[in-house]
Amino acid sequence: MRIYNSLTRSKQEFSSLSPKTVSLYVCGITPYDTTHLGHAFTYISFDALIRVLKLKGYKVSYTQNVTDINDRDNDILKRAKEQGKTWQELTKYWTSLFLSDMEYLNWIKPDNYLYASKQIKQMTDLIEKLLKNEIAYEVNSSVYLDILKINDFGKLSKLNKDEMFKIATDFEEGVDDKQKRNPLDITLWKKREENQSNHIPFFESPFGLGRPGWHIECSAMAVDSLGEQIDIHGGGRDLIYPHHEAEIAQVEGATGKIPFAKYWLHTGQVAYRGEKMSKSLGNLVMVSDLRKKYSANAIRYMLLLNHYRSDWEYTEEMMERAALAMDLISKTIQKINSSGFDPSKDSMILLEDDLNVHKVLDLIMTNIRNINAVKTRTILENLGFIF
Ligand SMILES: [Zn+2]
Repeated sequence: MRIYNSLTRSKQEFSSLSPKTVSLYVCGITPYDTTHLGHAFTYISFDALIRVLKLKGYKVSYTQNVTDINDRDNDILKRAKEQGKTWQELTKYWTSLFLSDMEYLNWIKPDNYLYASKQIKQMTDLIEKLLKNEIAYEVNSSVYLDILKINDFGKLSKLNKDEMFKIATDFEEGVDDKQKRNPLDITLWKKREENQSNHIPFFESPFGLGRPGWHIECSAMAVDSLGEQIDIHGGGRDLIYPHHEAEIAQVEGATGKIPFAKYWLHTGQVAYRGEKMSKSLGNLVMVSDLRKKYSANAIRYMLLLNHYRSDWEYTEEMMERAALAMDLISKTIQKINSSGFDPSKDSMILLEDDLNVHKVLDLIMTNIRNINAVKTRTILENLGFIF
């Protein structure tokens, strides 16, 4: 099986660190608002990957996180305050809606579904290792990662410092934090301010009261649940810098083991009406709305018609066409005939070539008038469709 590794920017033969087991970490949601089709695309793409790995005989250990607390002021905490809710009420509400949407789409639930707020000790342990290794430094009870101590910082994104600075500014990375030695240093622990507003939570740590940085959360949860070296780390392409770059620096800096993740897989961005779907632009299509009208199979089919690495634009026509195609496929495979074109062998070749699910779906539709219903049904069930 070959998969595209963002770290090497090439398709590589997949081989797991341990025989027949795969450790997989996928960055989860920050639950302060509704989740949209861009999220569903990422998680259903990884769902398809897990299913193909299982078909290949691997046991998959899968961790996904919920960023229910972080060092930022303008996502969860701002929204909770605006709505007169606690951060726990807000994050619990949006997480349960997300899980309900994903269950509707018949996702394989992660083995470890971890909430950042419940993993503080794992994070502070990792930060202490970075301090001990003199890669991190403490200033006035906040802790930062010194990126100049990381020789290969930037090896995933391959961005230069100016490009990093621009993105870090957009990502609310605290580039203007005067306590940092370098504006691009990564916040590992953010101190509780003396006059801190009541709506901002804080946790105990060896460095004093405060809260963890977003990036150290995923590093700590990945290492704690899957080990110091993992097979696959995934997420949306917009997380490559700063989030995944920081994760690599933190774990490799703490453990000395390289690589932290053998394969980095990134999903493409979903656009709607000409722009990337995003909360800030407000051009969102929600699974919770689509599911009022379309079956789980139709939505899954529409998502998987796009290769996981591609950037694509959602249109209502695309959803309608997917629903009609799914209807035709459903009717065809109810016939239970086992003659006609058998797509099994070609399908497996396509799936093993960087997860070409869309080509499998095309192959089935192209041959729908004369297709082996029994074999087709099995392929689709293996990809998470329910009949
Ligand atoms: Zn993450």
